[in-house]
Amino acid sequence: MSDTTQTTEDEWRVKLDPTQFAVLREGATEPAFTGKYWNEKRPGVYTCAGCGTELFSSDTKYESGSGWPSFFTPLAEGRIVEKTDTSHGMVRTEILCANCGGHLGHVFPDGPQPTGLRYCVNSASLELAPED
Ligand code: FE
Repeated sequence: MSDTTQTTEDEWRVKLDPTQFAVLREGATEPAFTGKYWNEKRPGVYTCAGCGTELFSSDTKYESGSGWPSFFTPLAEGRIVEKTDTSHGMVRTEILCANCGGHLGHVFPDGPQPTGLRYCVNSASLELAPED
């Protein structure tokens, strides 16, 4: 993964809280139904908690039942990069912030139309900028 922000590990440790650091910089997964956004319904834009890049719109958020905030598409092309993840004995597609390289979650082919995709994201990777 690349980090166009050139932020060092020490700087990330200062900038992020311990949970955000574990998820964004070390690829951890928050337990289901524990994050601050899995049941969030306010309209707005979800930005990367690491670098502020606008990643997802609440318009594409849906109830997946997974316990993590789920979206059927990113806000725009090029905001997210994908990488094959073979950890934990599974083959999954990891999703990362294209700007800072922060780990967001995974994308699965079981989402709703029109994309059929489920972008399954850790709340710790996101910061909601509410519309009002
Ligand atoms: Fe980022």
